[in-house]
Amino acid sequence: MKKLAWFTAVTAAAGAYGVLRASRQAAKLRMQQAVPATAPRVVVLGGGFAGMTAVKTLAERLGGRAQILLIDRHNYHLFTPMLYEAATCAVAPSDIAYPLRQCTGPHGADFRRATIRGVDFKQRRVLLGDGEVPFDYLVIALGSTASFFGNEAARQHTLALKQLEDGIVIRNRVVDMLEQASTMADPALRTPILTFVVVGGGATGVETAGALADLLQRVMPREYPHLDPRATRVVVVEAAPKLLGHMSSRMADVALRDLRKMGVDVRLNTGATNVTPGQVTLSNGETISAQTIIWAAGVQPPEIIAKLDAPHGPEGSLAVDEYLQVRGYPKVYAIGDSAHVEDGRTHNPVPLLAAAAEQEGRAVGRNIARDIAGRRQFPFRYRDLGNVVSLGHRSGVALIGGVLIEGFAGWLAWRLVHLARITSFRSKLAAALDWTVDYLYDEDTVRLEVEPSYRAEDAA
Ligand SMILES: Cc1cc2nc3c(=O)[nH]c(=O)nc-3n(C[C@H](O)[C@H](O)[C@H](O)COP(=O)(O)OP(=O)(O)OC[C@H]3O[C@@H](n4cnc5c(N)ncnc54)[C@H](O)[C@@H]3O)c2cc1C
Repeated sequence: MKKLAWFTAVTAAAGAYGVLRASRQAAKLRMQQAVPATAPRVVVLGGGFAGMTAVKTLAERLGGRAQILLIDRHNYHLFTPMLYEAATCAVAPSDIAYPLRQCTGPHGADFRRATIRGVDFKQRRVLLGDGEVPFDYLVIALGSTASFFGNEAARQHTLALKQLEDGIVIRNRVVDMLEQASTMADPALRTPILTFVVVGGGATGVETAGALADLLQRVMPREYPHLDPRATRVVVVEAAPKLLGHMSSRMADVALRDLRKMGVDVRLNTGATNVTPGQVTLSNGETISAQTIIWAAGVQPPEIIAKLDAPHGPEGSLAVDEYLQVRGYPKVYAIGDSAHVEDGRTHNPVPLLAAAAEQEGRAVGRNIARDIAGRRQFPFRYRDLGNVVSLGHRSGVALIGGVLIEGFAGWLAWRLVHLARITSFRSKLAAALDWTVDYLYDEDTVRLEVEPSYRAEDAA
């Protein structure tokens, strides 16, 4: 009886919430449809963390008073903090990609899927693969790409982890390696198949290595009983003397300790000098044979940003002023990984993180709305909200407000921080449910090879 009352109350609350949301969205849509053709045209390039937050803020503040258009080459927003989970079979790739049209249409903004080829700042037009679009205000938020530091061999023979496709390729490679190893009798042949090298010990490299170690040590023996976890090897190669890049040494020490406890072979002060198919050479001269070499060593601005006829910062991203406007280009803003942003108070460069990109997106949305209303703009101030890093199965490390949280509590902090960041209510609910089921049943269930792979023997 009590359960029935609960069920009725929850269903009624969910129903009421659904009706309220639908009516709010219909009102926003009516407002957008009523935008006069003479209203300022705000174009946002890139639907990542920065661009999407800018669009949401603009829609909230300008509903009905501006034409807002988001352009991206994909029709989804990629939730990069969980990309390593997709790459290591912990979640399905579809769980980390959210439709961009859900962030535009219901909020009274427009979306166009197109590849951006350039910007004509004089004529105030964005050049697309299939046409061009005029703008009054422009927000450039085109993110970054993997940096191979000019190492062409590394670009050719390693697997980068940056886009959704990269996550799927790595996931298929990992599953393929396990399937191949399971039918191989000769341990000498099996060794490179079961060796996984991660180049780069920043947050992405550390999280990927932790998840791979977990997959090989905890999950693999259940599903591949003939494979010995002791025959597997995960190596992290990091050129710096510590892990986790700009993050605190306290977090880096915990990450190093926990990875080593999981059996990960962490090499600090060591670079990858050469890569050939199936082999990586380290700066100390050692070579490691591995069929899977993952590149997580850094990012750089995409070519399109480098080509723009505008001032660039030290790493090649766009140089912006305190209002996040590209220097010398009024009403053109650059945010997120595409921009070299300095904190207004400390003048330190703002880190390339989703949290910073979101703060910049919010600031730009607010500033454009204020400019359209004829009010003065606010300088950007970065707020460091702390860092969270996941370290394999139900373990993590976080530094929030100067407090170090580790182990299960660190893992929980990681989940909560990312849950708050996931875009839609529906996706939050789906992720929370997924993690709860995973917690209760202690099972990762996404080890299918989904890439169409034709092999000659299939046809025989
Ligand atoms: C594997 C990985 C894990 C990460 N984990 C974390 C984490 O845990 N916490 C954290 O804070 N940060 C993390 N980051 C960093 C974070 O993802 C970035 O700082 C953040 O995504 C930057 O946001 P952005 O909007 O500038 O760029 P992005 O989110 O990269 O978005 C750029 C958008 O531009 C689009 N685009 C690019 N070029 C074109 C073009 N020519 N035409 C059309 N569209 C184009 C892309 O499709 C994309 O949608 C991680 C990054 C990676 C790669």
